[in-house]
Amino acid sequence: MRQLIAGNWKMFGRLTDVTPFAEAMRAAPAHVDLLVCPPFTLLERFATALEGGQMALGAQNCHANPQGAHTGDIAAPMLVDAGAAYVILGHSERRNDHGENNAVIRAKTESAIAAGLIPIVCVGETEGEREAGEAEHVVRSQLQHSLPPGFAGVVAYEPVWAIGTGRTPTEDDVKSMHAAIRAALAAQLGQDGAKIRILYGGSVKPGNAASLLALPEVGGALVGGASLKAEDFLAIANAAP
Ligand code: PEP
Repeated sequence: MRQLIAGNWKMFGRLTDVTPFAEAMRAAPAHVDLLVCPPFTLLERFATALEGGQMALGAQNCHANPQGAHTGDIAAPMLVDAGAAYVILGHSERRNDHGENNAVIRAKTESAIAAGLIPIVCVGETEGEREAGEAEHVVRSQLQHSLPPGFAGVVAYEPVWAIGTGRTPTEDDVKSMHAAIRAALAAQLGQDGAKIRILYGGSVKPGNAASLLALPEVGGALVGGASLKAEDFLAIANAAP
């Protein structure tokens, strides 16, 4: 399976950043799938700037309803209008900042799929949960309650304590968590569970990308901070097997 290297720009980036980044991506390696998920305000500009290239476009959130009286929210069909093909859902920053629970994430995931988007559903334990030996249990429960039946998107394993901290799990911990996620997907989705890419996310940088991406059941990376610099993002893409 080709790896997917996805950038999450979070709440960073201005219009002037789009063209230089998109132009730099024209030098990206052809053996990986590439995705950038900028803030809503940059989607349309990115859609134009990426035309004819290999990089796909995604958003970082959507509402569970396709339209309605929800001031300040954006619906999945609107993301499609703006040129997005993917949407990140259930990122721990959404879970924490906006109190999104698994049921909300599942409803958003269903809405994204109905609109024709590919959802990237994020799961991951807190540091306390890992220390208590609960990491796999927490992640299995997130998968069970946030993925709708017949889910055919992407899953991103992002330990909350590794996001933006410069810390990463050991290779053995990544291996065992990705194996546990693969087994949970098979139990939930049957044979289709094997087709789902499982990304690793949390402080992926040019210096650690090759070793993380080479681990079994790692199907790519969800990159936050290091995706803002074209040079670093390209180095990560080049490190993919
Ligand atoms: C993320 O935002 O999904 C993320 C993994 O961030 P960072 O790479 O900065 O840890």
